[in-house]
Amino acid sequence: SASNLMLEVKNLTISYGNIKAVKGISFEVHEGEIVTLIGANGAGKSSTLRAISGVIPWGGEINYRGKTLKGVPADRIVAMGIAQVPEGRGIFGSLTVQENLKLATWQRKDKSEISKDFERVFTIFPRLKERLSQPGGTLSGGEQQMLAVARALMSRGSMVLLDEPSMGLAPVLVQEIFRVISEMNASGTTVLLVEQNANMALRHANRGYVLETGTISMSGSGEQLLGDARVKEAYLGG
Ligand code: ATP
Repeated sequence: SASNLMLEVKNLTISYGNIKAVKGISFEVHEGEIVTLIGANGAGKSSTLRAISGVIPWGGEINYRGKTLKGVPADRIVAMGIAQVPEGRGIFGSLTVQENLKLATWQRKDKSEISKDFERVFTIFPRLKERLSQPGGTLSGGEQQMLAVARALMSRGSMVLLDEPSMGLAPVLVQEIFRVISEMNASGTTVLLVEQNANMALRHANRGYVLETGTISMSGSGEQLLGDARVKEAYLGG
């Protein structure tokens, strides 16, 4: 229903010079959903998330809880409740794990809840607890990915934008990351997830959209897309 529409993207266009990376896509995310954008390299998935985050210029409409994000600065968008885990992780390499986690809470006012969330993160990712005073840049790739997801947990956004959280992770950690995403969602965070791992993404998402060279070619429930012959052929290895 219209009442729980959280993010509305209409005729979104994104260009880099002469390159039209996103050619007028429209999609919606409702409160409480996990929605995934899947597609091949270069389809425009990351660009779409960067537009919502306010870090690149875009055309069309993006509305969050009925308010336009046009011209809204990136830090303000975070403060509105949209947390981000950018591709390439977006952690601060020279700051410690603890500092990275603490910084993720800058826009929160519920200071008493923050220490509880530290404990929660350490329960989910014990590895991060062992590495609290280590600079983020010296963590392994998988550990940096965990830290990036942990930062999203700490920020307690109403909505989180995840750009390929499973990228480069060993299969056991991919399972772990998706478990955490489902848990975040169950505790009230709406999720917009960009993934090349279409199989895992569609298994965990309520709905999905397939992006092909800047346009949406298909959409449906996670289950529908998993069962779709074209999706199987192109994105699930036949
Ligand atoms: P990937 O999974 O490979 O990251 P993607 O679906 O996220 O792919 P985007 O990163 O959004 O795709 O890229 C969409 C298109 O825009 C690609 O053709 C890419 O080369 C181009 N592009 C992205 N960023 C830039 C940039 N900063 N300058 C020029 N072209 C860019």
